[in-house]
Amino acid sequence: MENNESVREAKFFFQSTDITEHSLEVLSRSRLKEVIMIGRRGPLNVAFTIKEFREMIKLPECKTVMDPAAFEGVKEVIEGLPRPRRRLMELVTKTAFEAPPADAKRTFQPMFLRSPIEFLKDSTGDSVSGVKLAVNSIVDDRAVPTGAEETLKCGLVLRSIGYKGIKAGPGIPFDEDRGIVRNMNGQAEGMKGVYCSGWVGTGPVGVILSTMNNAFAVGHTIVQHMETGVIDLAVSKSGYEAISQVIANKGIQSVSFSDWEKIDAKEKRKGKEVGKPREKITSIAEMLQVAAS
Ligand SMILES: Cc1cc2nc3c(=O)[nH]c(=O)nc-3n(C[C@H](O)[C@H](O)[C@H](O)COP(=O)(O)OP(=O)(O)OC[C@H]3O[C@@H](n4cnc5c(N)ncnc54)[C@H](O)[C@@H]3O)c2cc1C
Repeated sequence: MENNESVREAKFFFQSTDITEHSLEVLSRSRLKEVIMIGRRGPLNVAFTIKEFREMIKLPECKTVMDPAAFEGVKEVIEGLPRPRRRLMELVTKTAFEAPPADAKRTFQPMFLRSPIEFLKDSTGDSVSGVKLAVNSIVDDRAVPTGAEETLKCGLVLRSIGYKGIKAGPGIPFDEDRGIVRNMNGQAEGMKGVYCSGWVGTGPVGVILSTMNNAFAVGHTIVQHMETGVIDLAVSKSGYEAISQVIANKGIQSVSFSDWEKIDAKEKRKGKEVGKPREKITSIAEMLQVAAS
């Protein structure tokens, strides 16, 4: 009975979003009661937005629990933060010290100052039974292990950590440590006419919107460089045609913006049939087929 109810609840909650039918089906059968989100640094270093956090704390029948001990010294720092960051930190701190609703069936627990060091197997060896965590402290804004360890029991682990750019080819000035092209406002260091934008230029910070803004700024730099002679326009260079030829020669199907529009239109059409903004195509092969149609 309870399970049927939660199936209906999950479907009701997500049905107007663009979640895939397959994911919705799996999620609606989920019996998860407790989600613990591990962060290696402290509350002041969180990377989520206020909107994302608000969505989590407003989940029906779910309480958000945090260890107030992780907030030592946080209140003193909040006042001096820029406004958007201050608002986020005020909400996170308020939530940490609030009494959670007693009737909540599920728990969401952000856990700070911990780094996973080992996944533990259960007796069958096929499933995870826990995670060994290093307890950290913050030194110069970095997470440093204190030497203490903890073990957390769990039945499922989702990893969302680490993203590093790799050098696309020889001759590119690359900071191997940070995984970025060394650049000034998008222009690759010491290479006239070579630019980078997005995470390969900035490192993995921000969301799609920040990446878009970075791309617009780099585009602006390129136009300026064309207007001011930094890029020599007297020398004719082959553009997209040449790039698509290189890709085609490798036997790779490229997807242009108008090809992507076909995928977009099909997803929206399929979504409309089931009352959703879109039904995502999850197979790359199918996406390529639609793009080529
Ligand atoms: C787990 C996770 C969840 C996220 N969730 C969100 C979210 O919910 N909302 C949000 O706004 N942002 C989210 N982000 C951030 C968002 O994904 C990034 O801001 C954005 O994808 C960065 O865009 P990009 O173009 O710089 O890099 P990417 O999106 O990584 O694009 C780089 C592209 O270059 C291709 N490439 C790499 N090397 C080569 C090569 N040598 N030749 C040709 N092609 C190459 C790659 O295959 C890739 O397609 C998330 C990020 C992560 C890691």
